[in-house]
Amino acid sequence: MLRIGLLVLTVVHACPAQAEFRFEDATDEQVAFVESNLLGIFYHELGHALIDLLDLPIFGQEEDAADVLSVFLIDAFYEEDAAVSMAYDTAFGFLGEAENAGDIAFWDVHGPDLQRYYNLVCLFYGANPDDRSDVADDLGLPQDRAEWCPDEYDQAAHSWGGALDQITQVGGGQSFLIGEVEVDSDGGELAAEVIRFELEALNDEFRLPEPLLVSIVPCGEANAFYDAEYAEITMCAEFVDTLDDMSVDF
Ligand SMILES: [Zn+2]
Repeated sequence: MLRIGLLVLTVVHACPAQAEFRFEDATDEQVAFVESNLLGIFYHELGHALIDLLDLPIFGQEEDAADVLSVFLIDAFYEEDAAVSMAYDTAFGFLGEAENAGDIAFWDVHGPDLQRYYNLVCLFYGANPDDRSDVADDLGLPQDRAEWCPDEYDQAAHSWGGALDQITQVGGGQSFLIGEVEVDSDGGELAAEVIRFELEALNDEFRLPEPLLVSIVPCGEANAFYDAEYAEITMCAEFVDTLDDMSVDF
């Protein structure tokens, strides 16, 4: 099932960005940027959850595999215009992280943000090279890399597509469950709304072998993570404020 677009919440008027996201101050573009990146991050965490719950073998870094799933789902779930918007927003999300990051931590389990940026652009382009060469050019994908991107996409489709087949063949269900929701800010409310909407869409199509919880709670930092002990993804309510700050740069 293709989704037409994101859940775009009505916003009233625009004004310069501030530390805390507020519905009344955010433009449609800012809200869309935040939503795209929340979903991109959520799909990445879903990658960790699927690797655990489906006991998937990973050859390479699990973080890279999770990034691949995120792009794969953006391409698979959304109609072209919405998918392209999300690809831009999530690519710019990595650029924003790269700008905030300071020195590159080569020891980190995640690749450097700029590399994650180019991996995203490459995979997204490779999924539909006939229609996305303008996107690839616009986002600065070098021709040397672009040549290989359709092959990179085929590999992703072979690995993640196979895993997703396992959980679609059994039909939908109620295995994606909202966990703890503790929100006391507009950003937290936006995150909760986006995630609830997403979980319903996932339940329509997929059923996991065991329930996956997704919680939206304050963590004291902009972060998201999967905890295998509880089969739970935590999306930190603070993420929206950070993404909202980032959105004005693009
Ligand atoms: Zn991760």
